[in-house]
Amino acid sequence: MGLLRNSLCAMALSLFVAPAGNAATLVEPTLHLKPQGVEGGGRVALTLDACGGKTDTRILSALVDNRIPATIFVTGIWLRRNAEAVEIMRAHPDLFELENHGGRHIPAVDTPRKIYGIRSAGSPDAVQVEVESGAAALASAGGPAPKWFRGATAEYSPSAIAMIRKLGFKIAGFSVNGDGGSLLGAKETARRIGAAKDGDVIIAHINQPTHAAGEGVVQGLLALKQKGMTFVRLDDADGVGNDGTTD
Ligand SMILES: [Zn+2]
Repeated sequence: MGLLRNSLCAMALSLFVAPAGNAATLVEPTLHLKPQGVEGGGRVALTLDACGGKTDTRILSALVDNRIPATIFVTGIWLRRNAEAVEIMRAHPDLFELENHGGRHIPAVDTPRKIYGIRSAGSPDAVQVEVESGAAALASAGGPAPKWFRGATAEYSPSAIAMIRKLGFKIAGFSVNGDGGSLLGAKETARRIGAAKDGDVIIAHINQPTHAAGEGVVQGLLALKQKGMTFVRLDDADGVGNDGTTD
């Protein structure tokens, strides 16, 4: 009875805090690679977000030293503040694919609301500015034009997804949340990443050098490599996403 009462309380609470007058449900799309069907091995895509802030050189060095390819989603803000890291990535075009994480790290949601405490773009025009300014920042930093977009918080309104596809970008979901927004401990992060299976797309962060999660990212990746897993970038593989993100 106590349990029932608690769950009813939880239901009542969730009804109470549901955003009023906001019919659009947000989606957090998944992305998978076609599995290769290799027993115990296969391939995974490592995607790392550089939202703002600095560079986790533990991760960057481990990728270079162990020749692990990765797709890095960078914002305009991060690009401006991390020229040295960008130079290292550009010096290893065989390892690093730089893609679009938006100009100012604003969620690609076209109605006004907050997601994990971050204010959404709030209108179709603002979503478009976020996407295009991210691409422009990458273009002015040199290198190839981005083909993939991942919005801040990785949540979207369905109408924003349709618009971003029209702008010419595929949208990068994921299938393994490696570091819980870089807030997990090293051990749990290593466990999650190390458990990735053939066809998984891992998301983690490369912009939080003081967080314990970064150490776990390195440990998890080395465990996958040890198992014989192959790493590919998003451009090298046909990723299939749901919610209309890649088709
Ligand atoms: Zn981000």
